[in-house]
Amino acid sequence: MRILIIEDEPDLLRSLAMALRDEGYAVDTAENGENGLFSAESVAYDAILLDVMLPKLDGWGVLQRLRNSRKTPVLMLTARDTSRDRVRGLDTGADDYLVKPFDLPELLARLRALIRRTSGQATTRIEIGEVALDTAARSATRANANIELTAREYVLLEYLMLHRGQVVTRTALYEHLFDEDDSTLSNLLDVHVSNLRKKLGHEFITTRRGHGYCIEG
Ligand code: CA
Repeated sequence: MRILIIEDEPDLLRSLAMALRDEGYAVDTAENGENGLFSAESVAYDAILLDVMLPKLDGWGVLQRLRNSRKTPVLMLTARDTSRDRVRGLDTGADDYLVKPFDLPELLARLRALIRRTSGQATTRIEIGEVALDTAARSATRANANIELTAREYVLLEYLMLHRGQVVTRTALYEHLFDEDDSTLSNLLDVHVSNLRKKLGHEFITTRRGHGYCIEG
């Protein structure tokens, strides 16, 4: 999953980016509204963390203009907890909001919920055949036995399972699993898929020649 953080407080931006990368997300950042909107319009992010008070273009402006072209889930970070701000956020098309200062675990939980809702997934557990994924604990089991996955393998498996029954193109995987800083890792996609097959059974992930990968629903 690839997340864009638009936040002008350098310390908060840095610590949020670090925390999300620790969770296995690919993360891009922007320090003002204009750059943030440009990135948000250029890349199909899985979610955007959007600060309200921003230089150049504020969070409301970013959200309003983004909604002309994209439905990317947006979690607004607001400094004040007033019902007027809340109503304005929801009216403008925000999917959720969080009041600063917030607890990191709460932000992570809301982010997971947002991404889950967007994929039409009601719970944190996804089961396909004998493979089950817990998206809150970020763990996987096969026939009820734990499977050890690397962070990369986990995010790849999660993305494919959330899109079960669909052919996921390599381009989509590059776009959603890698951020602009680690494009050098993208050629390892085949290695990650091959490792997942060893752990989950070769037939679990099918290759559609010239199209991409698929986990049958
Ligand atoms: Ca701010």
